[in-house]
Amino acid sequence: MGTVTIRDVRKIYNKLEVLKGVSVDIRDGEFLVLVGPSGCGKSTLLRMIAGLEEISSGDISIGGQIINDLAPKDRDIAMVFQSYALYPHMTVEQNMTFALRLKGMSPAERKERVARAAGILGLTPYLERLPKELSGGQRQRVAMGRAIVRSPAVFLFDEPLSNLDAKLRVQMRSEIKQNHARLKTTTVYVTHDQIEAMTMADRIVVMHDGLIEQIGTPLELYDRPANVFVAGFIGSPA
Ligand code: ADP
Ligand code: MG
Repeated sequence: MGTVTIRDVRKIYNKLEVLKGVSVDIRDGEFLVLVGPSGCGKSTLLRMIAGLEEISSGDISIGGQIINDLAPKDRDIAMVFQSYALYPHMTVEQNMTFALRLKGMSPAERKERVARAAGILGLTPYLERLPKELSGGQRQRVAMGRAIVRSPAVFLFDEPLSNLDAKLRVQMRSEIKQNHARLKTTTVYVTHDQIEAMTMADRIVVMHDGLIEQIGTPLELYDRPANVFVAGFIGSPA
């Protein structure tokens, strides 16, 4: 089960408290968007779910099991970075297969998983290409492919579209949503773009200065913002 429970999570860097007690229950199969201004703590929270950052206090569970002390590779998650995180010297197929090495899978199963993900993402004709021989959108699909091949319980995205141009960004949003409709993998998607949040989310978490201001569906936030911050953030142009 891909439920994620975040209980009163805090993060203190040196003496600076950047997460000040964050709690949210993420439902199995949900597409949850974390949104808020730059520096409010979105990436820090995502990195704590991934295990890339230690939790100062509080608990994070996946499928009911507390994972605070699990190594990143032992967590049932996959993180999607911006497309420039691809290995430049590896082909599309190798980039995707590499994500499965740690899992101790047979070559036959790895190949099958990569073929299936490539099919979903429309990458089948490009498996032998290097990242530099791909368009920006194709590279972003490969970055997603590396997560999909692992069939994790949870996908984590940290501003995956922020280095794409506006037109491609709109197209990739809808592709990510289509993939989600197909795979139904619990997703936590970070963006500072309120339009992206409003168009993609099942529910939105609005963060500000290390705290959650409001959690709700796009419509709830739009119709009944909890405070002036949420109203201003959701209501302002990108
Ligand atoms: P966001 O992703 O919402 O833009 P971050 O989670 O990256 O915000 O950062 C939240 C705050 O934590 C910022 O003030 C940032 O400067 C600080 N911060 C992030 N990482 C570190 C770190 N490794 N050491 C010290 N401060 C950090
Ligand atoms: Mg960030």
